Amino acid sequence: MSAIVIGFDADDTLWQNERFYRLTEGRFTELLADYAKPDHLSARLLEAEKRNLGKYGFGIKGFTLSMIETAIEITEGRVPAETIRDILEAGREMLDHPVEPLPHARETLEALAGQYRIVLITKGDLFDQERKLAASGLGDFFDAVEIVSDKNRAVYERIFTRHGNGADKAMMVGNSMKSDVLPAIEAGGWGVFVPHELTWAHEHAEAPSGADRFRQIEHLGELEAVLREIG
Ligand SMILES: [Mg+2]
Repeated sequence: MSAIVIGFDADDTLWQNERFYRLTEGRFTELLADYAKPDHLSARLLEAEKRNLGKYGFGIKGFTLSMIETAIEITEGRVPAETIRDILEAGREMLDHPVEPLPHARETLEALAGQYRIVLITKGDLFDQERKLAASGLGDFFDAVEIVSDKNRAVYERIFTRHGNGADKAMMVGNSMKSDVLPAIEAGGWGVFVPHELTWAHEHAEAPSGADRFRQIEHLGELEAVLREIG
């Protein structure tokens, strides 16, 4: 077994996620079409989400509450109860969405399991993340699962120390430059960026310049080559 521990992000790294947020946001803008244009509604919703992150954390429940808050603001308190009901319904449907592993996710985990210690590291609603992991059929490949409220340098240091030999001997793989890649590199580990075509605006960040422990791949099928290269 290699000394390196590999952390995998879940949403939009192992399975589709952002797509369901975009679909629901589309529904939300339709529900409030009489009050404001879709772009304006989306911008106000993003503001509410960012404002509320520190209180609600990441995930569908916080997103639903932010949709309701935005609906109240946009309508200056006149949003009908039926619309609130429809927003709640849209949020609940997100919590039931099917879990579709992304291409190469299963084969890659299968190939790495047993050779490396593999940890799933994700933020979001606890129930929802547990449900998705179970529904994905990928749960058995992981040596450990960490569902955290935020992903920062200290969190990676703690997780990689708990499950391995510290961040120095660890790699984080994910689609968020801001949450998966940069803080893992800051902690002393490797950061592998696997961009997804849809990524929430809040998760965007510039690639690090001059970081020797940064790599970018097109899809998870290229991860084994990175591991061979770094030894
Ligand atoms: Mg992600």
